[in-house]
Amino acid sequence: MIKVVKFGGSSVSCAQQFKKVKDIVKSDPSRRLVVVSAAGKKDPNDHKLTDLLYLCHAHLTYGVPCDEIFGRIRERLVEIRDELGLSYRIEDDLDSLETKLSKDMSIDELVSRGEYFTSRLMAEYLGFHFLDASKCIFMEYDGSFIPERISNAVRNAIGEFKGVVVPGFYGVLPSGKTRLMSRGGSDITGALVAAACKADLYENWTDVSGILMADPRIVENPSPISKITYSELRELAYMGASVLHEDSVAPVKDAGIPLNIRNTNEPDHPGTMIVERIDEQSLEHDRFITGIAGKKNFVILTVTKRMQGTNETLRKVLEILDRHKVHAEHITIGIDQFALVLPLATLGDGLYDVISEIKGQCKPDSVEVQDNIALVAAVGRKMIFRPGISGKLFNALGNEGINIRTIAQGSDELAIIVGVDNSQFENTIRILYQGFAG
Ligand code: ASP
Repeated sequence: MIKVVKFGGSSVSCAQQFKKVKDIVKSDPSRRLVVVSAAGKKDPNDHKLTDLLYLCHAHLTYGVPCDEIFGRIRERLVEIRDELGLSYRIEDDLDSLETKLSKDMSIDELVSRGEYFTSRLMAEYLGFHFLDASKCIFMEYDGSFIPERISNAVRNAIGEFKGVVVPGFYGVLPSGKTRLMSRGGSDITGALVAAACKADLYENWTDVSGILMADPRIVENPSPISKITYSELRELAYMGASVLHEDSVAPVKDAGIPLNIRNTNEPDHPGTMIVERIDEQSLEHDRFITGIAGKKNFVILTVTKRMQGTNETLRKVLEILDRHKVHAEHITIGIDQFALVLPLATLGDGLYDVISEIKGQCKPDSVEVQDNIALVAAVGRKMIFRPGISGKLFNALGNEGINIRTIAQGSDELAIIVGVDNSQFENTIRILYQGFAG
């Protein structure tokens, strides 16, 4: 059995956190591949190494000295090394990096050093082999990955060593240059490594005990989700739940590898297990909602015109939206009318251009706009084939005086989405949580 374990920045923020990581890794011999982020914040007033490195680069770009910031990076890393009693002469590598600092230094090269140094320290501390991402995370120039090459490199390493540490967040281009992923990219490295060695499990260790059923800033003490399918997770993430890096799910999902989100500070908690399919015999609770998420700031654009049974007007409107790079979240169609739910964030002031193009090209009877709309999704695989669920949800909201402005349900019945006024967003989430999830 092989488990790939990824530790986020807060799990490696100081020597004490390194100790927790070691206890976790050493308590299970199948945890043989460890992916590490750059040291994160030790406390709320502290800074992530990655942020400090970005800041160094910004200083260099504008010709402002960055010695003070670089000094803080050095201090953090040396402190971890010393407190753990390691022998890695990190000062030598930091000195040589410092001599290379100039405005021509690539941002990818500089910022990736956060993961590089943190992983070097972790590899020595665990007694594992350090496998640099420049030797195993192969990328194309467009940022896509080369799975066969990644797989060869990872398999060779675990064939040779009992334990391996790989830095997250960066890879190597065909030219040999370093290339960063987007923020939070170590999640992706973990997933790629797990897929590469066909791991039995990908554990993503962070500072929360799994995915919560609702945003804790809105619902007090929401329960964690013990099990969720990849499809449910996708719905929740799409509707705004901040869970994992979006691109980190596909490699493990496609390889059929379960993903377990765990808490480094509460290692006995089972966290959230994300799997392809859940045997519904094992319904733990009679809850039919797995999680609730939502987003604010949408507009509903209602176009009225006698459509004479054709799709022509709708097609033209969608083409206009395409040109403005706006994605319609939901569409409802009536006899002489259709309504589109559009995200204001991508539309911005372009809304007025969209409306005037619709008026010019489609000659509608009217175009109406309702703004300040929030979408809230109740997601749950157990809603499928159960009659009466939407009725219960709408009733609960109606009883609390919440006016539903639009409704959508996918044909897979995985999510019921309601559109409400922005001002009712938090309330809607709380009512759904209290009534059906808590
Ligand atoms: N250190 C990087 C960041 O802060 C990548 C990661 O943590 O996954 O975004």
